[in-house]
Amino acid sequence: MTIDLHTHSAVSDGTDSPADLVAAAARAGLTVLALCDHDTFDGLADAAAAARGSTVRLLPGIEISARLGGDSVHLLGYGCRTADPALTAELARIREGRRRRVPAMLAALARLGMPLELSEVARFAGDSPSVGRPHVADALVARGYVADRNQAFARYLADDGPAYVSRYATEVATGIDLVHRAGGVAVIAHPWGRGGERQITESLLVGLVGRHGLDGIEVDHNDHTPAQRRSLRVLADRLGLLVTGSSDYHGLGKLNHPLGCHTTAPAVLGEIERRIDLFGGSR
Ligand code: AMP
Ligand code: FE
Ligand code: FE
Ligand code: ZN
Repeated sequence: MTIDLHTHSAVSDGTDSPADLVAAAARAGLTVLALCDHDTFDGLADAAAAARGSTVRLLPGIEISARLGGDSVHLLGYGCRTADPALTAELARIREGRRRRVPAMLAALARLGMPLELSEVARFAGDSPSVGRPHVADALVARGYVADRNQAFARYLADDGPAYVSRYATEVATGIDLVHRAGGVAVIAHPWGRGGERQITESLLVGLVGRHGLDGIEVDHNDHTPAQRRSLRVLADRLGLLVTGSSDYHGLGKLNHPLGCHTTAPAVLGEIERRIDLFGGSR
């Protein structure tokens, strides 16, 4: 079995449609694929329909924009009931924050001498309900201001960049509770990626496990060094956390994250599915 539990479609900031993502997963030899678009379930129905006619099994997922104090944390939810009122209301609030910050980012870019129209960002966001910095990056590339998404982030859009604008995100403990109340399993995505080692400490994880029942952490991910992966595995073992691995595939949006570049053990998937059934989720 080849199990990839974290991928994105063009419904958020990936570039493949949900159906194309499933087709690409089949070509890559995956047996199980989780679609975890940022802050929306909207791609799941099309992905599930495509999976029904293919060799790939789809696990429904989401990547929730969460925060820890002022720092960004990404929370994966597996098997959530997509109609859960509290979770859907919270996701709508996050997406509204995403929409509202785009004009502010464009104003900052204009001050930096790189004017862009909202319609140029909209062209790349398409009908995504979850507009994000990668769509702004695509518009910067199209204007020739930067070479690619990575350069757009490195120069302007990263969290410490001159055109960065913060937005609403759910406190991570609240996010875990919302996932559980929707019947899902909660896993912190790439906890030590991009400086996360300073925030996601052992004592923080102890609290999230003890008080909120955090289920797991994503360990095998391109944003972690081999040394970080080893340390995270030891930590997970000590705290009884499930360990996942995944590509964080974004289609052409992240070139060094091919489908299946990191995978999750079948026994871990089995435990995730067991908990979804136990919590009353949907898969
Ligand atoms: P947002 O959710 O709109 O704040 O944008 C965050 C998203 O941008 C992440 O989910 C990644 O897909 C992408 N991203 C973040 N940092 C980088 C980076 N340095 N290079 C390329 N993409 C990035
Ligand atoms: Fe993304
Ligand atoms: Fe993420
Ligand atoms: Zn992701």
